[in-house]
Amino acid sequence: MRPVAPRALSLLVSLLETSSGRVVEDTLDTADRDAFEVLRDTGALVAGEDVPLILCPACGDQDVAPRRIGGVLQGLCPDCGYVPITNASLKAWAFDPSWLLGRLRMAFGIAARQDSVELVPGTLWKVGDHKAGKQAHRVLLARRLSEHAVHKAFREALLDKVERDSAVIISTTPKSAAMVSDLSLPFVHLAEVVHLRSGKLELDEERWAWCLKPAHLRSHADSSVFYDGYRAAIVGGEEYTFSVNQALVFEALDGEPGTKRLGSTIMADIGSPQRNPRALFRHNPRQIEGFDRLVAYDDYGFYWLKRR
Ligand SMILES: [Zn+2]
Repeated sequence: MRPVAPRALSLLVSLLETSSGRVVEDTLDTADRDAFEVLRDTGALVAGEDVPLILCPACGDQDVAPRRIGGVLQGLCPDCGYVPITNASLKAWAFDPSWLLGRLRMAFGIAARQDSVELVPGTLWKVGDHKAGKQAHRVLLARRLSEHAVHKAFREALLDKVERDSAVIISTTPKSAAMVSDLSLPFVHLAEVVHLRSGKLELDEERWAWCLKPAHLRSHADSSVFYDGYRAAIVGGEEYTFSVNQALVFEALDGEPGTKRLGSTIMADIGSPQRNPRALFRHNPRQIEGFDRLVAYDDYGFYWLKRR
């Protein structure tokens, strides 16, 4: 059983990366259903307007425009003629920026009287100012940074509206796609800096501490965060996903900082015929890259997690 909260946060992140920020209930994969329900029940999603075009419920092949004819919703499908449409198949849900900004303010302990500010409509916000000792950090939330027009507006807002030396960027775009390698500001992925628990977002204190380090200390520190039962990890803003057996390797290595384990023992423990942990990742270029960013080993066959 895979825990639902991390998948709900992943679903929210993927929604935030779409231009509409919307999901149509009937188009959801059944495997995502429980994650969707968590988001809906916590208020992260609000009922959106009806979708203008839907797939014909009869053939599932043609786009039809729902119309209310004689009190009944119908669509005219080129193949099937008039087909009745149930309300359920029209239900669209949109992410609610005010929910996300409110939960982020709570996670950062930002005073309730402070409001978030939209810096670029729909894509960039100042969540609030986070105080740590005498220093205040401006917390920004950005989405869709891989899109040219959005990215351009993001850069302009950074120049005009943000004091650059004290801001932290939280983004739903993976770092590799966000074109931000020239920025000295700390850049973290939403799913690595907060965790969803009981409808609230909790700050990952370790990851946040990393954000507040001076740039020269930050650039050399590779952060690693596992979630979804070690099936996924975000390293330096990049997301990697792993198989069940690969996840068991990480689980076996995770423990007290500095814990080293013999590779052959791990393989025996998890019942893998592979000779060593690295061999289990070698067939997938993305997964071996993730493994090498997360795990170190020596000539004696000992393996350990690289620490943030
Ligand atoms: Zn049809």
